[in-house]
Formats: sequence, C-alpha cells, structure tokens
Amino acid sequence: MTSNTQTKLKIEKIKQSKLPQVDLSNLVFGKVFTDHMFLLDYVDGTWQTPRIMPYQALPYEPSAKVFHYGQAVFEGMKAYKDKDGNVFLFRPEENFERINRSAARLGMPEIPKEYFMEGLTTLVSMDSDWIPTGDGESLYLRPVYIATENAVAASPSTSYRLMIMASPAQKYYSGEVKVKIEDKYSRSCDGGVGFAKAAGNYAAQFYPTEKAKAEGFLQIIWTDSKEHKYVEEAGTMNMFFRIGDKLLTAPTSERILPGITRKSILQLAEDNGIDFEVRPVEVAEIIDAAKNGNLKEIFGAGTAATILPIIGVKYKDYYTDLPEVKNSYADRLKKMLMDIQYNKVNDPYGWRVKVK
Ligand SMILES: *Cc1c(COP(=O)(O)O)cnc(C)c1O
Repeated sequence: MTSNTQTKLKIEKIKQSKLPQVDLSNLVFGKVFTDHMFLLDYVDGTWQTPRIMPYQALPYEPSAKVFHYGQAVFEGMKAYKDKDGNVFLFRPEENFERINRSAARLGMPEIPKEYFMEGLTTLVSMDSDWIPTGDGESLYLRPVYIATENAVAASPSTSYRLMIMASPAQKYYSGEVKVKIEDKYSRSCDGGVGFAKAAGNYAAQFYPTEKAKAEGFLQIIWTDSKEHKYVEEAGTMNMFFRIGDKLLTAPTSERILPGITRKSILQLAEDNGIDFEVRPVEVAEIIDAAKNGNLKEIFGAGTAATILPIIGVKYKDYYTDLPEVKNSYADRLKKMLMDIQYNKVNDPYGWRVKVK
C-alpha cells in the first residue's frame, strides 16, 4: 500500500448529529452507536475505496455467505479520553494483527494496515464528542469482517466487507460475578479456531453459558476439550488465578484467544514484582487450593471489563466463595492498566496511541 491510500478515504458526514438525543450517563453496553461508521469492501480480489458514512442499516441478500457459513471475525477495542480532552487508543496494532490472524484461519483476505488504521482513527476522531469521560468510561470500537458474496455454495466468499462501529460505554459492572468450571461442553479444540476471534466461537458457547447462568453463574471457565482437566479461558476473558502469592494463567494455544489485556497484565506483573507463572493450570490444583485456603483470587481479563474479579467458583458439586483480599492483585493491576489507558501516568511501553 502506498501513502496515497490516505487521500482515498471518502467521507460522508451525518447532516445532524444524534448526540443531543443520547444520555451518555445512562447507557446499556453496546446498544447505542455514534454518528458514523467505517466501511471497506473487497470485491473479486480488489479493495474498494474505504468510506466513512452515517451509521445506518445496510441491505444484504439472504444468500450472503456470512449468514450460511459464519465466515466472520471481529475485534473489540476502546478509545479513552483524558481530562484535557486528548483521545487515545490502546495497542491498536495488536488488534489489527489479530483480526488478520483470525481472518487467515477463516480463509479471508488480509486487510491492508493503512485502511484499517486510518478508518479507525478517523472514525474515532470524527465522533470523539461521543466519548464519555467519567471514571472507567470509553468509546467501545467494534470492527467486524464478513463474507458478502451472494451464493450458497459452501466455499470461501469472493467478496468481503469490513465495518467499524463505535459505541459509548460506561464502567463495566456486572454485579458479583460467580463462575462455573465446565466439565462437559467445550468452546474450542486442538486444530480448531479457538485462538481466532471468530463469530461462531461465541454462538457455540451461548447455550452452555445460558445453562450456567440459570444456575447463578455469569460465565463459564472452559477447560481443555480432551480431558476437561486444565482451565483455559472464559470465552470473553482470559483467566488469572492467585494461589498463595503466585499469579497463574494458562499459556495461549490454538484453543485460547491471545488477549491484549492478558498480555499487558503479564508485562505489568513482571515489571512490578508480582510473582507469576504462565503454565497449564489444573482444575484439581485450584480446587485443592480453595479447600486449603490458598486460593486468594480469580479474575478475568478482557477489553470490555478490563479486569473482572470473581467472587465464587463452582466445579461439579463443589462450590466456594472467594475471600475478600486487601490490596488484591486484581485491584493493583487494574489501576496500573487504567492509569496508562487514561493518560494518568507515563507510558513506558508505548501502548497509548494518541488519536486527537
Ligand atoms: C476478545 C477475547 C478475549 C479478550 O481479549 P482482549 O484483547 O484482552 O480484549 C478473551 N477471550 C476471547 C475468547 C475473546 O474473544
């Protein structure tokens, strides 16, 4: 790609912003979208002119391949505004690289970097008035990449569309979260697509997760599909366990999504003297630690919630509440991460990318 891709972005602005009709202090996650969206089509081997246009419904034929074969991948990221009105993204290149790794696994063409980055930053910059600035608030960004060819033959599409939409988000609060360690269903398997942010990975976990919810558990901690012996991740979050003073998390694999929050937490743990190990973690080890009082914390890590502490865990017939821990690893790491995201401290890692 040459630098003149920049001048090719076609922008159609909304006539009148919808922002005055939106109460930014009373938002349901992922329901309200900003004035604009980014759109990029790929047709028969050629990327078309990238566009920003008013957020709107788009027509698709019933035969569009995405509806039949689920050839679709997505990303989740956030833009943050500091107290002076500067706007930042957090490690956006990681999301860009990941959507292309996901796309490759689903047989979809690689998105050119300039198009993705310019579309993303222009959208955020145009709709930056929509970014709420309260504690923990942000603009959630959702790139989604789908197969658009109108044909029901079971083969990869010849045309694709990348869309990026933006949704103002308040602090993530889902109450007191209890989780269930799964011993029957699986979300991914060796050789599968678990490492990809594939839409179908979510479809596959809704049914078991709804069953767990009916029993009072908001999320499932998935285990390996062969033996259900090792804990893996929660399906929207990577999982961390603190046994004694040691923080444990599973290594990423083709079954586990490599979270950017997870990666950032490991770096912060390393640089702030938190003892951790990345290794396969057995369910039995966690239950034993719970029984002898050594299980101090469990938390999830992902863009939506940043870090989500867990207050109780179930495995088969065993259930335990987790203790209340002062100065928990979850609280410490969450503060370090958010201070960087919101430009409250120096960013020695270069994770923050200024948009405006
Ligand atoms: C998106 C996602 C995560 C979290 O990744 P982040 O980059 O930290 O937001 C974890 N697990 C799954 C399955 C995911 O789709």
